[in-house]
Amino acid sequence: MAIVISGKKLSEEKRNYMKEQVVELEKKYNKKPNLAVILVGDDSASASYVKGKEQACVEIGIGNITIRKPSTITEEELLNLIDDLNNDDSVDGILVQLPLPKHINSSLVINKIKASKDVDGFHPENVASLYLKEEGIIPCTPKGIIEVLDSKNIEIAGKRVVVIGRSNIVGQPVAKLCLDRNATVTIAHSKTKDLASVTKEADILIAAVGKPLFVKADMVKDGAVVIDVGVNRNPETGKLCGDVDFVNVEPKASYITKVPGGIGPMTITCLLENTIECFLKHRKD
Ligand code: NAP
Repeated sequence: MAIVISGKKLSEEKRNYMKEQVVELEKKYNKKPNLAVILVGDDSASASYVKGKEQACVEIGIGNITIRKPSTITEEELLNLIDDLNNDDSVDGILVQLPLPKHINSSLVINKIKASKDVDGFHPENVASLYLKEEGIIPCTPKGIIEVLDSKNIEIAGKRVVVIGRSNIVGQPVAKLCLDRNATVTIAHSKTKDLASVTKEADILIAAVGKPLFVKADMVKDGAVVIDVGVNRNPETGKLCGDVDFVNVEPKASYITKVPGGIGPMTITCLLENTIECFLKHRKD
């Protein structure tokens, strides 16, 4: 039987601490951290993610504005809006909810956000900082994964970590964070041959694939730590599920996260942490 690590519970603890931190910051600076979120179009999943972020800001008492724009907004209009927020001293963090409509170049948009306000950590300057081990903003999901491991004092140094998935927002940055913590890291992807033989070597297996119940028990070593990043719909039940076949993998694992209630809440918690970090950075300058 594995220990199920609850990202929800860990988030509650961290958010309680941040709530107090925000009160202190407001006393000290006469201003509280403020996050601006831009939501383009009416994609229901994006709208629900943004709502979760708004609620989390309210929960810990930081300011938030959500700017909703129709999917017909031009690239130039969006870039101008970001410019305005970059120059607005009352805004500490800027997040553009992805994906954007096809006529807008997402890279241009991300590059436009001032690196010191880039709470998602997607700006090239922050990506470079991560790879050069310099101070920068770490993307929320990878940061949340490390915090989950740390919360249970799970040793990363010297361990074999296998990450399934090589996206810029999850797979690659979490692999880099584990490498920086002295793990021996393998990144697997859709072209990996004999995936199970690779994943079975993992002391820590991180699944960021985006395929429901993809990781089966025979892909997991006895006693492995299994982190499930996936957010999918189970095709049979229609319910939210992860990339890991939890029911069958859990008995083999030592620690495991669940979907929902695992990495998802930690991602939002790390967004709040990054917003506070940006606020403090702006006060230092
Ligand atoms: P993504 O950009 O679609 O990347 C998926 C990765 O999985 C790719 O690298 C892909 O390989 C790999 N892959 C696909 N099929 C595979 C296979 N059969 N065998 C091995 N690897 C395979 O997805 P993402 O943005 O990283 O997100 C991954 C999952 O995490 C999604 O379910 C997403 O919703 C979820 N997510 C959750 C949170 C959260 O807060 N909990 C945050 C972000 C993402 P190739 O590169 O070769 O195509």
